Amino acid sequence: MSVDLLLKNGIIVTPSKSFRGNIAVKDGRIAGIGGEEFSVEADEVADLGGKHILPGVIDPHVHIGWPSWDWEEDCICTTRTAAVGGVTTVIHFLNEPLPLHEELSIGIERFERNAYVDGSFHEGIFTQGQIDEIPDMVETRGVNTFKFYLPYKGAEAVPPLVGIDDGIIYAGFKEIGKLKEKARALIHAENIEIFYKIKEQMQASGEDASAYWTDTRPNWVEVESIRKVVAFAKGTGCPLYLVHLTTKEAKEEILRARAEGVDVIGETCPQYLVLNVENTDRVKSKVNPPLRHREDNEAMWQAIQEGVITCIGTDHASVALKDKQDFWDGIVGFAGLETTLPVLLSEGVNKGRISIEKVAEITSYNVAKTFGLYPQKGSIEVGADADFAVVDLEMEKAYSVRESPNITDYSPYDGMVFKGWPIQTYLRGRLIFDHGTILGEKGAGKFIPRFSAQK
Ligand SMILES: [Zn+2]
Repeated sequence: MSVDLLLKNGIIVTPSKSFRGNIAVKDGRIAGIGGEEFSVEADEVADLGGKHILPGVIDPHVHIGWPSWDWEEDCICTTRTAAVGGVTTVIHFLNEPLPLHEELSIGIERFERNAYVDGSFHEGIFTQGQIDEIPDMVETRGVNTFKFYLPYKGAEAVPPLVGIDDGIIYAGFKEIGKLKEKARALIHAENIEIFYKIKEQMQASGEDASAYWTDTRPNWVEVESIRKVVAFAKGTGCPLYLVHLTTKEAKEEILRARAEGVDVIGETCPQYLVLNVENTDRVKSKVNPPLRHREDNEAMWQAIQEGVITCIGTDHASVALKDKQDFWDGIVGFAGLETTLPVLLSEGVNKGRISIEKVAEITSYNVAKTFGLYPQKGSIEVGADADFAVVDLEMEKAYSVRESPNITDYSPYDGMVFKGWPIQTYLRGRLIFDHGTILGEKGAGKFIPRFSAQK
């Protein structure tokens, strides 16, 4: 056998074990894996210098263009940022008020023209017409996940998101439920009507001058919303994926739902593991759902350790500093693609909270399995795409938003020191990021259709 590339002298990380070894790559895929003695004839040999090599991160929660960037320009910046962060696949949310087919065609075309890494799409569901398209999207178009934005209605219905009522949730879940294991509903679980009342009361009392965003949508608002969609899922047989969970109560809610026979997968984001009201700016760090308290951070780590929360997404949304100056009117969200691995390696692995194998599991393997990208993506095994993040667990430095290729000038992580950083990223066997330099190319990213959501 002769191959294109032989990666030597790495510590290969899989969900079950890590071992010192070599990886052969041919035509963009993994052609062979073995220990230190494994060798084949190769056009190019790269020495990993004893560093850990993980499957490329798959970020299932990315918003390109939010809130109002030129979509193509932000696609370039977001996917360059992904490359720097060791992220080789991003799943973006399409939320336009268009027929799903049309929205997907536009999305694929402009993604493949601009992206530096691979990508796929979830579609937001807002109308009965879109619900009617779901079976065909799943069977023929490679989209098997549909997002229901519970809180973006009324005054919070930020365009292009339009509010949905319980009827839409019911009809959407019913359609997805009919497809059995093939599709899944994604839920942003927060009850917004409680927020409106709290806002009214806070503004009247002047309490909002010192409040944190979590005070406007407390933990139980997430809990109530989880219980509601679990009831809907039970009634319709719809599999659930709860995006960006934040509360210390979420773990028990997932366990209870599972005990009742509901198929539910939980996601949290790096920000809910390490950021809280004590270490962030009360106004600028505004995000939905909100950053909470230290005890919630620790509960999220615990839910990961116990295998209850199984996927990490970032909710990456490149909001600029100028749009984050007002407590009520500031735009929610912030960027996160570059900081996923630093957060998990520094605060997780190097502080003994999780193993490096767990990082491979929650950032790649589980995500690929959940969303139908496995076995093409998600694992270092023969036949899979040669997507890798090479990381240095000893490298210690501060994150700097100014040095980021991202479009925004704001990050809540700016200035925070992390120990453990991605140093090289490979996309289908090509080195696209190498020690600070982006080597990838615009338009190299491919749309990856997803046909089989698995547990
Ligand atoms: Zn989101």
